[in-house]
Amino acid sequence: MPKFEYAPAPESRAIVSIKESYGLFIDGQFTPSADGPAFKTISPATEEVLAEVAEAGPADVDRAVTAARRAYENVWSRMPPIQRGKYLFRIARIVQERARELAVLESLDNGKPIRESRDVDIPLVAAHFFYHAGWADKLEYAGYGPVPKPLGVAGQVIPWNFPLLMLAWKIAPALACGNTVVLKPAETTPLTALTFAEICQQADLPPGVVNILTGAGDTGRALVTHPGIDKVAFTGSTEVGKEIARTCATQPHKKVTLELGGKAANIVFEDAPVDQAVEGIVNGIFFNQGHVCCAGSRLLVQESVYDQVLASLQRRLATLRLGDPLDKNTDVGAINSAAQLAKIRELSEAGEAEGARRWSPPCELPVKGFWFPPTVFTGVSQAHRIAREEIFGPVLSVLSFRTPAEAVEKANNTPYGLSAGVWTDKGSRILWMAERLRAGVVWANTFNKFDPSAPFGGYKESGYGREGGRHGLEAYLDV
Ligand code: NAP
Ligand code: MG
Repeated sequence: MPKFEYAPAPESRAIVSIKESYGLFIDGQFTPSADGPAFKTISPATEEVLAEVAEAGPADVDRAVTAARRAYENVWSRMPPIQRGKYLFRIARIVQERARELAVLESLDNGKPIRESRDVDIPLVAAHFFYHAGWADKLEYAGYGPVPKPLGVAGQVIPWNFPLLMLAWKIAPALACGNTVVLKPAETTPLTALTFAEICQQADLPPGVVNILTGAGDTGRALVTHPGIDKVAFTGSTEVGKEIARTCATQPHKKVTLELGGKAANIVFEDAPVDQAVEGIVNGIFFNQGHVCCAGSRLLVQESVYDQVLASLQRRLATLRLGDPLDKNTDVGAINSAAQLAKIRELSEAGEAEGARRWSPPCELPVKGFWFPPTVFTGVSQAHRIAREEIFGPVLSVLSFRTPAEAVEKANNTPYGLSAGVWTDKGSRILWMAERLRAGVVWANTFNKFDPSAPFGGYKESGYGREGGRHGLEAYLDV
């Protein structure tokens, strides 16, 4: 009998080699933390320990900021912009070459389906570096002065929901404009940021231009409060964002941008193509398990099509597959951490206690790991906690409306203002709604679409500043 040897599927665990332990990335080298503490990062789908990672303390933050300052003064800000652009192109190319490995690592560490990390996250990471590489030598032509002035050293703190993509959103524009960076990834998802540090080495990026400090909230606090930081860029919860805004107010030399939470409305009018809208509703709230700041977590449906849309949505949800993030057929992966799972459970129980009706398609949850089924609440009132608070999980709250004015009133009835979706056949209605919705992005007949050239950011308690596009550069330049 001939024996067939099958190579591992391109997205299998076998293509990544995870080290047992990782140091901090400072001045172009991996180094232990000064005081030696470390923490473990696990796979949320299995609770398996993936690696031990160094935890940066204040002395490490100081070392990294010093290295970044030196690289800024001596190398990066003095380099001809076209050469900076070449480094960014090189990084983008290496991200493409290592895309499958990065996708597997992201799915292992974060719990998101491989289809999403492979087809959305990592391609967007590369696109972000390509896009900003193109800007590096064109800033002066875009009106940023004959000699565009970077700000200096940026301290950047990112969350766990799109680990490498949030890193790209932060690092690519900062570097294109001539700044150097010290970045802290989230405690639960450090592995792709550490692999990105290897990519910086592979690209021969001058030491100190990019520094990666792993750790938890205390590391983040030490970083953003360090006096040697000129620019703070934060993505995360509104609560921590407020703390950062307060402390940075006492250090006015720092420029601050904040990308915070959301409670977006996805609004379906009676003239919308229902099948397309249902796909958009599913994508809006179940993409990445709903761990999306701009998730369409409040569905507003016009009364005349309410029953039809809900029936169609329930049928579609019954087809979603929940399970192993590395299985290419998986639609819904694991919840990122036990703490996040507890928060989703608590808010869902509050929804029931306040009188909303809870529904999930039949689905079996794995025994190990952190899991929550796709969940829909109907009979939701605007006063309910599940209609007001960010759940950051696969939980949809459904409300109804009669008129466009009522849709606007309900959609804007939130402290947040990051995004919104409008589903209608009428072009004029899209414009009418977009003018009135208080949200940084309004999607029309689509949802969760991203492009490096499009500015992204919030109104109200969703933060300030924009990332992406020409507007995103302004956060890293003094004109
Ligand atoms: P979080 O607690 O605010 O954490 C975000 C990051 O800040 C993490 O790296 C965290 O470290 C660090 N951190 C925690 N406390 C800090 C402090 N006092 N000073 C400086 N850094 C600190 O948010 P999360 O709960 O992990 O993430 C989910 C939240 O992020 C959601 O509310 C979501 O809406 C928001 N988010 C917003 C956007 C956007 O673009 N607007 C994008 C993604 C997520 P640890 O991980 O170690 O705690
Ligand atoms: Mg993890």
